[in-house]
Amino acid sequence: MRHYKLKKRELAARWVAAHQSLLACPICQAGFEAVTDQGLRCANGHQWDFNRAGSVHFLTGASSENAYDREMLAARRRVLAAGLFDSIIAAVAKELPAAPQRIIDVGTGEGTPLARLNQVRGEIDTLTGFDISKVGVQLATQLAPDQLFFSVADLRHLPFATASWDLVLELFSPADYAEFDRVLAPGGRLIKVVPTGDYLRELRALLYPAGDAHRHYDNHLVKERFLARFPGARVVPVRAAFALPAALRADLVAMSPLHWGQAAMEPNAAGLASLSTVTLAVELLIAEKSAGNY
Ligand SMILES: [Zn+2]
Repeated sequence: MRHYKLKKRELAARWVAAHQSLLACPICQAGFEAVTDQGLRCANGHQWDFNRAGSVHFLTGASSENAYDREMLAARRRVLAAGLFDSIIAAVAKELPAAPQRIIDVGTGEGTPLARLNQVRGEIDTLTGFDISKVGVQLATQLAPDQLFFSVADLRHLPFATASWDLVLELFSPADYAEFDRVLAPGGRLIKVVPTGDYLRELRALLYPAGDAHRHYDNHLVKERFLARFPGARVVPVRAAFALPAALRADLVAMSPLHWGQAAMEPNAAGLASLSTVTLAVELLIAEKSAGNY
């Protein structure tokens, strides 16, 4: 990890001050009038503080947490840092113009995919990620806090200004298409990443008995809904095999409830050995605001 002279809170304040016009109050959508090292205040007096982790808690209620979050997110961090999603991130990067982009990562989790996208793109973009999970955002702020800004926010009330962003990226997350539409600038893109039936099929085979519904993920409802809303959307398949180091196989199992939320079988050592190579198979669903899709 790099060493930063400024504290994370100061780095966050600096990022927000430099990108003030891209943000808006999640309660009233007014712009922010005052940004200090302590926090932000909107035109209607709503106040949001920077915390020590260098993020802003943009929720009026409690964030979503449970006892398993920290362990699962730490496991996810180790596996993603080893490059599990790099093929997906490369495919997303390929869809973007060469010019600097203003990017929102929806349901950013522990933030690694956004940090990898930043690296792949040559650190030219303006990037922010948000999640409903405070624990996830606390982990995310460890990543390049001089370049990335993370917040705890509700996807139905985004803390972002209207028509100000070039990309809304949604990696295995829930969606609020009306809110995404609001924050995207004309010409902006929405990229939704959905798993296909083969996604981590080696892990599914290990965790679920033959015949169990979770053994074969089916994305057709999510995809149909997306294509019905954005008839001009494109579907880009991404498929890669990932060699999973032995030390990370238990982590892959530990992070899986994030995707499937189901009690699964406990794998033994022989089972874990079967995860030496895992299949990454997803589809990018891409809608462009300029193409009259909205
Ligand atoms: Zn406000």
